[in-house]
Amino acid sequence: MSNLKEKLIKALPVEVVDTLKLCSQAAEEFGVRIYLVGGVVRDLLLGRDIFDVDITVEGDAVDFANYLANGGFGVRLLQVQNDLRTAKLSFGDKLEIDFASTRIESYPVKGHLPVVDSIGVSISDDVKRRDFTVNALVLSLNHSDFGELLDYVGGVDDLQNSLLRVLHEGSFVDDPSRIIRGLKFSARLEFSLEPETLRLQDEYLSRLSDFDISYSRLKSEIIQTFSLNIPKAFELFIQQKLYRFFVSDFELEINSSLLKRLIDCYKPQNIWLVYLGCFLVVGDCKFDLKKSEKKILQDLKMLFIKKPPFDNFSVYKFYENTSLESILIYYAMTKNKSALHYLDDLRDVKLFVSGEDLIAAGFKPSCEFKKILDLLLEEKLSGALLTKEDEIKFLKFQIKQLKK
Ligand code: ATP
Ligand code: MG
Repeated sequence: MSNLKEKLIKALPVEVVDTLKLCSQAAEEFGVRIYLVGGVVRDLLLGRDIFDVDITVEGDAVDFANYLANGGFGVRLLQVQNDLRTAKLSFGDKLEIDFASTRIESYPVKGHLPVVDSIGVSISDDVKRRDFTVNALVLSLNHSDFGELLDYVGGVDDLQNSLLRVLHEGSFVDDPSRIIRGLKFSARLEFSLEPETLRLQDEYLSRLSDFDISYSRLKSEIIQTFSLNIPKAFELFIQQKLYRFFVSDFELEINSSLLKRLIDCYKPQNIWLVYLGCFLVVGDCKFDLKKSEKKILQDLKMLFIKKPPFDNFSVYKFYENTSLESILIYYAMTKNKSALHYLDDLRDVKLFVSGEDLIAAGFKPSCEFKKILDLLLEEKLSGALLTKEDEIKFLKFQIKQLKK
């Protein structure tokens, strides 16, 4: 196996490297072995930026964390989770590191959260619970072999061939969110599913109704994946029929690059829902949505029920109070130009005058108010009224007409 010590030192900020060395020395004194596992090792080998460094302790991470916190190293214990035996420590002002105990997990209820069977197992057993071989790579932080790469599952070969391979046959049945994780890594790392893994995924998706699925676990992965705004994720979602988590087979002709362009141009808050929403015009979301997310899907369904608009005023009224995300999906699906006309030219048109100005103009509050303000808006959208004075003049004229 190769030693990645130099690579690690180059890839991480100096204070992180110093902290890892400190942990290494403390682990030696305390008598446990510690490792980096998963995404961080994968990204180190791929030469990608590393954002978070978690440490896996071959033993009890809480005991080790307490040793570090009480050992005069200037380390503070921030959090402990006793059931999982994990701990968070802060090193100085800026750096926080999670410490996890090695563990074996099982899925008594398939598709739902795992239970922990055993804690403090060997690192080679710990990696068996991981999603893909490339995410099961281990890097030793121990004094005797600091930086040594340990590959128990063939992850290095798969990494070299840009392949995502599950660790066992039942992996997707245990945890279907791994299917969406596979999509995320396919899009982000430009990896592909290895043929047997793709077969297991196909088999899972073709028998979806036989399985129990915790959709809340899926949601977080869907958000992470589609928020990347990578068209390939959307294309694979269709090609590999991952939409079956939400809807049955159907025809959808949407250009993924168009979605990306729309998102880049109009910058909606919920990027992920622009992608997923394309499948939810007819389908059901299946996981809990926030109020604002629910509104997007309700708006979208409404847009498809209403008759498409033609003149400026009806375009304005058609899209008024409709969420940006739903307008973008509607445009991508129908190519109805009114959507972009609204966003580009009309949505920011606002009247200078208000109901109060109507009253000041001598008009008594009544149900005619809205009618008059709409007439005013219609005129304004035609480009005729530019200033507040123009609007007031128009108002007074309309009121006079009404009084006749
Ligand atoms: P990212 O760069 O997106 O953070 P990552 O591989 O670090 O990628 P995390 O979600 O941070 O992914 O998880 C850290 C590690 O935990 C993974 O590398 C993997 O080994 C393991 N893991 C995470 N989610 C699962 C899962 N659903 N099933 C099995 N192992 C998982
Ligand atoms: Mg990570």
